[in-house]
Amino acid sequence: MVLMGKIKSKFKALVPIIVAGLFLTACESECKSLEKEPEEKNSISSEYINVVDEAASTFGNEKEDTGIKSTAKDEIESVRNETGVKETGEDGHEIEGEDQSEQNGESSFEYKPGTSEEGQSKPGSNKERILEDFIICIDAGHGITDLKKQEPIAPGSDITKPAFVPGTRGANQTEEQLNLKVAKKLEQRLIELGADVHMTRTEARCDMSNIDRAEFANGLNADIFIRIHADGNQDKSVHGISMLVPANDYINDEELVEKSMRAGKLILDEVIKQTGAKKRGVIKRSDLTGFNWSKVPVVLLEMGFMTNPDEDKLLETEEYQDKIVQGIVNGLISYFKN
Ligand SMILES: [Zn+2]
Repeated sequence: MVLMGKIKSKFKALVPIIVAGLFLTACESECKSLEKEPEEKNSISSEYINVVDEAASTFGNEKEDTGIKSTAKDEIESVRNETGVKETGEDGHEIEGEDQSEQNGESSFEYKPGTSEEGQSKPGSNKERILEDFIICIDAGHGITDLKKQEPIAPGSDITKPAFVPGTRGANQTEEQLNLKVAKKLEQRLIELGADVHMTRTEARCDMSNIDRAEFANGLNADIFIRIHADGNQDKSVHGISMLVPANDYINDEELVEKSMRAGKLILDEVIKQTGAKKRGVIKRSDLTGFNWSKVPVVLLEMGFMTNPDEDKLLETEEYQDKIVQGIVNGLISYFKN
């Protein structure tokens, strides 16, 4: 996929031919779940999908180039079509193969429970235990592990993907670290609101695969499974926040898919409201293992691009992280209370 990104940026005009060839050979097995051909070149020619990273949020304006497609145009709630922007969107792929564990091992941030920012609160909304009785599973994406294995992207599927992938990184922190910081802040806020909150991980090291994480949420019978990730892109100009939600291809549960979409929209809107970030839209994905194994409503927030220097700087700050958390909380309240 890295190779593909490079090709796309350097040989844009040749990409349709090159990429088609590549995909027939190099990553055929990864692309089987995305078999549909594009019929819609105008409205959402902006989406294509890379399927290696669990959390890859990928949409560019070169869909016909890729040979792999979104499953349907109506899967996109809103996507801004950025002419001229090349997006490989592989969260983590620019650093794949590097020794992530050394870098991550420091895990240098300090988390202080109970330090939520009252200043960011919506008046009145956080004073009550209004999320009492709701079970919320938070998954801080990625983690440090020595394990390596493939796992099927859906129950019964013979398509597999790596069970453990490193995330992307910014100048001063890895995605694994950022995800955990925000997840812990979110945990704290939701506990204050009375919710029954469970974390897939609370430290850098984590041997849970994406299937394990989904099954953890299933075991809790969570009312929502919220996955926290950040994006990366070879094009440093790419920025903004997106929300990934499951498509129905493997899940076969309309209600789960609808609930996830509703939660995804509400949360994304609120996060955008709080942060003022560019809204990249809600995108249905059929290729994410952590979605396909989920039996509870599930959403994956891509908090922004750590490869974009400006957004990366924001993502380093407590203030911005708190805004994201407040947006998620507001969105969850809307979801549960309406
Ligand atoms: Zn990620």
